[in-house]
Amino acid sequence: MAPPYFSNSSLNDDNNLVVILGHGQLARMMYLESTQLGLNIIAVNANTRECVNPVDKTVLNITLDEAFDDAAVITSEFEHLPLDLLAKAELSGKFLPNAKAIHAGADRIVEKKLLDSVNVRHCQNVIVNGLSDLDKASETLGERIILKTSRDGYDGYGQWRIFSPQDLVGVKSQLNEHNFEKMPLVAERCINFERELSLVGVTDKNGNHKFYPLTENHHADGQLVLSLAPAPRVTLELEQQAQDIYKKISEQLDYCGVLAIEFFQLKDQLIVNEIAPRVHNSGHWTQQGSVTSQFENHIRAVAGYPLGETRATSCVAMINYVGQSKPKADLFTVPNVHLHWYDKQVRPKRKMGHINVTGSTPAQLLETVKTVKNFLPDALATNLAPLINN
Ligand code: ATP
Ligand code: MG
Repeated sequence: MAPPYFSNSSLNDDNNLVVILGHGQLARMMYLESTQLGLNIIAVNANTRECVNPVDKTVLNITLDEAFDDAAVITSEFEHLPLDLLAKAELSGKFLPNAKAIHAGADRIVEKKLLDSVNVRHCQNVIVNGLSDLDKASETLGERIILKTSRDGYDGYGQWRIFSPQDLVGVKSQLNEHNFEKMPLVAERCINFERELSLVGVTDKNGNHKFYPLTENHHADGQLVLSLAPAPRVTLELEQQAQDIYKKISEQLDYCGVLAIEFFQLKDQLIVNEIAPRVHNSGHWTQQGSVTSQFENHIRAVAGYPLGETRATSCVAMINYVGQSKPKADLFTVPNVHLHWYDKQVRPKRKMGHINVTGSTPAQLLETVKTVKNFLPDALATNLAPLINN
């Protein structure tokens, strides 16, 4: 008989348990998009170490040790994992991708060393270990700097924009009490990019890769607002450049699973902003716009299954639904609109869900997005308007 924590016991045998470290929306979507493969997927609350159902977060009748013992594979939904939990997962011999990849995603200093080691272009930067380094950074990098914490940054948290000598004075006084030993900072030259793109790819256990088309991303306040896929105006050379960078990084990390790379485009050059060793917000469009979603492909990869096709099946706009309560059901009167709601408590700046809008042509897609905008709360509509000329 299946153990009590199995939620779909009829499909399970004894070694198809997938344990995901982290129990947020990414774990939830990995569950929702791949439980149909006959896998049993549970999530771990990285703080309490409880095993939970990834959808409704019910605490399951299994300890972390039991879950690790029973697991066929352990993976993660995010890189900011407590170090002891990551070490324990790695020690089990079942963790994919691997601790090295997670560290590179979690720590900007490790990430930059990795990018240097594979000769991949990224933002010019200075490591800031004290206030005096900030002056050096502004001499080296010029007046426009983005200062970032080396760890724990996401959605633009842990960043300071320094665009003038006054900003520099202000930020220095804010950082007076900062413990640089505990949390070094990284100052980056602010890149005057033409646009932001990302590549989401997936690598299987044998090192075979599949790539989704490049995605165009629009941010406000350091947080993703809108993704368009496949990105418009992409040449074969640009796609190839992105895929070559992915291969270098993935091979250096001995990677398995979904890996995302964020880029700044400057003319025909791609500069890496950062990497994410996991499923990524800019890949959420694949749920409606590709043969196989990024979530299913990550689970396929780590479970040792053949990868699914990554071809785009339509044009998609992914709109992040941030800091507002659920939209009224009227939204569903608009055709080709799919809401993905994460069931979290509303907080300012918190990602509550996303909306995937599909269209058979970019023009048709734009028309539908303009209609969707009318159903959004004002704050979201205001962020979206300039991006869709509306
Ligand atoms: P997330 O986890 O949501 O991807 P994050 O908090 O890790 O974000 P970054 O990706 O480093 O942060 O930065 C967020 C956004 O800020 C970028 O997508 C970009 O719009 C802007 N940004 C970051 N670094 C630079 C830079 N060096 N030059 C110009 N813009 C930048
Ligand atoms: Mg980013």
